[in-house]
Amino acid sequence: MAEKKDYYDVLGVSKNADESEIKSAYRKKAKALHPDLNKDDPHAEDKFKEVQEAYSVLSDENKRKMYDQFGHAEVGGNGPSAGPGGFGGFQNFDGADFGFGDIFDSIFGGGSGFGGGFTNFGGRESTPRAHRGSDILMRMNLDFDEAIYGAEKQFRLDVIEDCDECHGHGGFEKQECSTCHGQGTITSEQRTILGSFMSRTTCPECHGTGKTYKRRCSECNGKGKIRRNKKITINVPAGINTGDRQRISGKGNPGDNGGENGDLYIEFVVKEHDYFEREGDDIYLEVPLTLTEAALGCKKEIPTLYGNVKINISAGTNSGDKQRIKGNGVDNKYRRHKGDMYLIFKVYTPKKLSRSQKELLDELADTNLETDEIKQFNKFTRKNDN
Ligand SMILES: [Zn+2]
Ligand SMILES: [Zn+2]
Repeated sequence: MAEKKDYYDVLGVSKNADESEIKSAYRKKAKALHPDLNKDDPHAEDKFKEVQEAYSVLSDENKRKMYDQFGHAEVGGNGPSAGPGGFGGFQNFDGADFGFGDIFDSIFGGGSGFGGGFTNFGGRESTPRAHRGSDILMRMNLDFDEAIYGAEKQFRLDVIEDCDECHGHGGFEKQECSTCHGQGTITSEQRTILGSFMSRTTCPECHGTGKTYKRRCSECNGKGKIRRNKKITINVPAGINTGDRQRISGKGNPGDNGGENGDLYIEFVVKEHDYFEREGDDIYLEVPLTLTEAALGCKKEIPTLYGNVKINISAGTNSGDKQRIKGNGVDNKYRRHKGDMYLIFKVYTPKKLSRSQKELLDELADTNLETDEIKQFNKFTRKNDN
């Protein structure tokens, strides 16, 4: 994936730019980069989309805040770590989903400024189609234990929902729009630097629906949508691992023209444990042994995910030897799978010895401790020298 340009750079505004500066910068850029005016530039459409994406983020207070905090979304990478409440957040912008007509209608429509002076938006319907809102992807950090045993997590999220008062209509008592006479579009002559055009634009009064309401809903200011800061509780199932996602339906971005909300996806990032190492649903634990424990064998208490267990370590254990404790790995409710636990032994030879320890080991050294491997290696060494 190509490195994404900074949205502020794309629009050529400062980080402190206010709403109107952003809007005006966007208009200029979009006008200059419009693919219809840049037929010689094969990258015109990409550039145009880049500008559109930058604007879609910077013009939305919430998205802009998120962008300022976390930067570009990068799914699956080493993304931003959690802010307060264990949340690192980013959004997934599906820039592929818009047509040029849509942008011009929504940004330049309403009779202001540019006026949507392009006539060749073929196939555009007079009644606006319902678009489902885009999905949002957020990252949530989990402690090792929360992921293993499952957890209830709560966080707050701004959700845009249909206004209860007007059931998402924005008003009461439907009537035909008087501005466009129910057509949803307005045709007018536009004079531009390229000459005169007959242009059709979405009706600014009814936004293309052809209907208006006698009484405007005061609860949502006629928008039909309300932003609510909601407390969301999710049950994280036992066994969740980094990269696993949980879908929360209908809590994504709002749709257009009566389209339903997108979904919210939570992607988990699980912290590592100091001792237990997780690989899928298996758990690995390094068990340190003294020289004598390894040589003579011993009984040893071992921590597991489900409390301590006493195990027998056989005489002659070497560093790297493994022992499996079946079924003692992650009990994964999400994948319905139970992992195993593996003990990996490691013999730690002391760097410092007391006088008496050294004497004992000297005495031991005089006995024959050579294993078959050592004998063979010594034989090879002697042969190699001839
Ligand atoms: Zn109208
Ligand atoms: Zn309302």
